[in-house]
Amino acid sequence: MSKRLVVIGGVAAGMSAAAKAKRVDREREVVVYERGPFISYAACGMPYYIAGDVPDYQELIVRTPAQMAKQGVEVHVRHEVTAIDVAAHTVTVRDRTEQGGDGRTFTQDWDKLVIATGARAAQPSMPGVDLPGVFALRALSQGMALRRFLDERQPRQAIVVGGGYIGVEMAETFRRLGLDVKMLIRSGQVMRTTLDDDVRALVEEELARQGVTVLQCQPVAFEGDGRVAAVVTTDGRYPCDVALLGMGARPETALAQAAGVALGPTGAIATDAHMCTSVPDVYAAGDCAEVLHLVTGQPDYIPLGSTANKQGRVAGAHAAGAQASFGGVVGTMVTRVFDLAVARTGLTVAQARSVGRTVSETMIKARDLAHYFPGAAPIHVKLVVEEESGRLLGGQIVGRQGVAKRIDVLATALHHALVIEDLQRLDLSYAPPFAPVWDPLLVAANVAAK
Ligand code: FAD
Repeated sequence: MSKRLVVIGGVAAGMSAAAKAKRVDREREVVVYERGPFISYAACGMPYYIAGDVPDYQELIVRTPAQMAKQGVEVHVRHEVTAIDVAAHTVTVRDRTEQGGDGRTFTQDWDKLVIATGARAAQPSMPGVDLPGVFALRALSQGMALRRFLDERQPRQAIVVGGGYIGVEMAETFRRLGLDVKMLIRSGQVMRTTLDDDVRALVEEELARQGVTVLQCQPVAFEGDGRVAAVVTTDGRYPCDVALLGMGARPETALAQAAGVALGPTGAIATDAHMCTSVPDVYAAGDCAEVLHLVTGQPDYIPLGSTANKQGRVAGAHAAGAQASFGGVVGTMVTRVFDLAVARTGLTVAQARSVGRTVSETMIKARDLAHYFPGAAPIHVKLVVEEESGRLLGGQIVGRQGVAKRIDVLATALHHALVIEDLQRLDLSYAPPFAPVWDPLLVAANVAAK
């Protein structure tokens, strides 16, 4: 059998795996199959590309197939892997480079395989979901199509269906482009699984202040004659001329499942710390795979680019013969909602209780800079602490400045299972342009300790 690593999927996890494997073992053949036209791009930048902050989509592309070829990695775009035969150590590939044609099919053998098939945007099976003007945002080509639509059609009314963070980021983008924006959410709550109610209230306040209407209703259909004209819900009909599906991501696991690769309890591919799946010589990484949540000790599904890159790197290194492992995550994320930064790490109160922890919660409001310093603004810090042990289980922060740096302190604390007294003792940076003398994190820790 040839010493060949085959990677399925060419974005964050797949390209990290391919590049790392080649660096570890220069002799190894590394071949990537990507069914789309682009590889190695920053999907996270798409809302800002659509808003015009990033003028050209090419700026989102980190590496091209030609650049990868110079590093010795063979990349085939518009090539879809249609089957994996784990016994024969082969993949079946359909070449879709010919426009309009079905493409020729061939098999490729491998001694190691990395599945990095990512995720897809959750898509409701609603009538009219395929109408022009209804967009999901996952692949770069979808982002480009949405920006083209906005440029050419100049829509006036946008509807975001769902309240996930991408939906919120896109509500901001549409608003900044001058559109009327409504978010239609079944629960009526934005970022429902990510934030506790008191923190979410701050986000919803900002959305309302910026002119985004959030409505609790159940969308049932998209309507339109050749192009979307309205979203029909159980509570009425809302006109729109562009709609975005923002209901989260689902792992792309069909190929792995058909090959007999085990899924975990979350429905994503189960792996060990080396990113090995249940099948020998087969790895999985990125949004198609589960992660170990270090606070709960349980597998979780938290599809983020930060994790996909790390998991891909570990899978590639291990497949090429190096020692590498991925420790797990604590569920850290940050996003911008107009003038606010919104961040969380660890468990919310609801999540902590759902895994049987008894917790106390502390929410404080402080200033992000010295109170007299120009530009000082309110910042809200919430801490979730296990009552019996005093261990920090999670944190959420909303403010204008210094939110990301502070959530990263809490994430570090979670990685090391710090208790609240440890947090109180942290030597955090202070100078008036950056923080008050009592950093909001220390204020929150002092209040929580009481
Ligand atoms: P994907 O990016 O989904 O790539 C998988 C690739 O595999 C796809 O290109 C697909 O075409 C290909 N593929 C699938 N099946 C096959 C097949 N059978 N044959 C060949 N190819 C196949 N994360 C953050 O951490 N921070 C952020 O701020 C952030 N913002 C985001 C904003 C948006 C709008 C989006 C969409 C995502 C954002 N993310 C963010 C998430 C981040 O982009 C993903 O976690 C990351 O792209 C996952 O990388 P991946 O390689 O695992 O999967």
